[in-house]
Amino acid sequence: MTNQRTPVPAPEDLILGIDQSDTTSLARAITLVESENPEHLSKAARVIEACLKSRPETKRIGITGVPGVGKSTFIESLGMSLINAGHSVAVLAIDPTSSLSKGSILGDKTRMTSLSSHPKAFIRPSASGDSLGGVARKTREAIILCEAAGYDIILVETVGVGQSETAVHSMVDFFLLLKLAGAGDELQGIKRGIIEMADAIVINKAEGANVASAKQAQTEFSRALHLYPPKASEWQPKVGTCSAIENSGIAEIWEMILDYFLSVQKNGYLEAHRSAQNKQWLMQHLEDVLKSEFFGSETLKKQLDEWVVKVENHEVSPFKAAELLLADYRKELK
Ligand code: GDP
Repeated sequence: MTNQRTPVPAPEDLILGIDQSDTTSLARAITLVESENPEHLSKAARVIEACLKSRPETKRIGITGVPGVGKSTFIESLGMSLINAGHSVAVLAIDPTSSLSKGSILGDKTRMTSLSSHPKAFIRPSASGDSLGGVARKTREAIILCEAAGYDIILVETVGVGQSETAVHSMVDFFLLLKLAGAGDELQGIKRGIIEMADAIVINKAEGANVASAKQAQTEFSRALHLYPPKASEWQPKVGTCSAIENSGIAEIWEMILDYFLSVQKNGYLEAHRSAQNKQWLMQHLEDVLKSEFFGSETLKKQLDEWVVKVENHEVSPFKAAELLLADYRKELK
């Protein structure tokens, strides 16, 4: 973390460092992005602007699944095989609960031993923050920075709880759901929304005695996926099996992901989807900033408290109170 004793690096130095794939510069730029300090954020914005210009060809892949399903093990296995094939891999995370639990995912890098010590991998635990929106913005910007630093494969991990999958989905090209073969009730426990978002479902821990149930789950999921409406990407989601711990099935899953990229590059969806995501980030950011400006003002907060009482007591209509508050907000802006 940047603290008062560490001088804030100059944006120009960070831009140069990132351009030369210097991981210290990359890490420091991400720290600026994660800061709450306005001076840091304005420096971060300059770095992001410069990084956006490079627009390298990259693949952004989201990976979700309940705790214990094997996300870290899968990322370690897939990440190492990608590095062996000549790629550079960045692993980021979205875990809005991490500020409470002190990094429940990715916090423990020992779970990705080979990857975390490899010079062609960059692993960054989830940013902390009090809102999912804030954590998501930081991760989105970290993606841009990692790409500019030369990482061509970005893996974004999220834990399968709450709304964090939606946030990850809004920043990746391909979304993968890791699952375990259950005892029969395969469709239980998975939120419908997540299945709808998934471009692939992968049943992990498919080795030894588990192979048969994993295959059965694969058949059931494939059948279930056909019942969903077609995706805008025209991609028919696939179901695979793997054993992350034994590195089996990982190459096939990567082949499937490459098939997806070929298909969405050809039909133009990849480019259109990234543009739509950019627009979505713009709208989201505007909303966040406007909200935090309004609710962050001490004067307005005091006035709001007073108006709330009047509204509760039917002394004034909610709309009138809102109009008066907004008028004061506009006056404050002048
Ligand atoms: P995460 O919480 O989703 O990141 O899961 P982890 O990667 O930490 O894995 C949870 C546990 O499952 C660990 O004990 C792993 O060793 C184990 N595990 C992960 N993948 C496999 C697998 O393919 N087969 C088996 N048998 N165990 C696995």
